[in-house]
Amino acid sequence: MFPDKFDYYAPKSIEEAAKFLSGHEDAKVLAGGQSLIPLLKLRFTSVPEIVDIGRIKGLDGIAFQGNYLEIGSMVCTSEIAEDSSIRKKFPALSEAAGQIADPLVRNRGTIGGDICHGDPANDFPAVMMALDAEFEISSATKKRTVKAEDFFVDTFSTALEQGEILTKIKIPDTGSSGRYMKYKKYAGDFSILGIAVNISMDGKKVRKAGIGLTNCGPTALKAREAEEYLAGKELSDDNLAKASELLLKVTDFMDDDNGSVKFKEKLLKYLFIRAVKGIGGVPK
Ligand SMILES: Cc1cc2nc3c(=O)[nH]c(=O)nc-3n(C[C@H](O)[C@H](O)[C@H](O)COP(=O)(O)OP(=O)(O)OC[C@H]3O[C@@H](n4cnc5c(N)ncnc54)[C@H](O)[C@@H]3O)c2cc1C
Repeated sequence: MFPDKFDYYAPKSIEEAAKFLSGHEDAKVLAGGQSLIPLLKLRFTSVPEIVDIGRIKGLDGIAFQGNYLEIGSMVCTSEIAEDSSIRKKFPALSEAAGQIADPLVRNRGTIGGDICHGDPANDFPAVMMALDAEFEISSATKKRTVKAEDFFVDTFSTALEQGEILTKIKIPDTGSSGRYMKYKKYAGDFSILGIAVNISMDGKKVRKAGIGLTNCGPTALKAREAEEYLAGKELSDDNLAKASELLLKVTDFMDDDNGSVKFKEKLLKYLFIRAVKGIGGVPK
């Protein structure tokens, strides 16, 4: 199917794009188009104007700045999957990127689009929660920073206001390690559910744990109680079993074609323990 008619704009700067967006309340940003274009073509939505941010300079690049890894919002998923510094320092992010869709989608889809779309089944948001990422957002008049845990408001709804563009993702480099585990039916599918775990250790004890959940509720979720429970503890089987129970305090599963609530709860607990046990360099 063809999408409804829309006007197409390709601004050259963030200011120009943000100004246009703030004056056109139904206009939408186009990044890689891998979520927006299918929605338009299937006529699930229509928009009067599209603002393609693909020609704006400065939204690309992966770089370490001080204690942060900074990723431009237009960096595509395959670039993240292939980046050796991300693989070494943030394996959960690398692992999630490599499991998103297929090479065609990964080459076009961007990390910013995956986050801004607000789909609870998208994989990057949970990783952002586990890594305590921050998002830099620009409008025509101001810049602000929003923590990942405050960004996802509801299904397909985020803290972005009309006229705002996500420009950069900032991830604190805390000397941690992690994993992303995703359960799907077929290669290239969205997650039935997924979990990102990021852990830094003080000897045999957990200094800090970060846990984000994919497709376990209306948005990506941060499992704060489980994170806090693990802090200061050894990663013993008993402690992991207790933490896995605490994950269920934030989940909001429904019975559907992918399985019953009971099945999903069991699966989540299993994936969590497998993820922690699979983290490299962490004493268990
Ligand atoms: C077949 C298929 C399978 C897929 N499987 C997965 C999967 O397993 N896991 C997964 O995570 N994703 C999956 N996706 C989604 C894919 O990762 C998309 O690329 C991603 O959700 C959106 O990124 P995009 O750059 O294409 O954004 P677009 O489609 O261009 O935009 C998506 C939304 O975000 C907004 N937006 C985009 N960038 C910005 C920005 N910088 N500032 C403000 N708003 C912005 C747009 O206005 C739009 O509302 C799949 C997609 C397809 C087609």
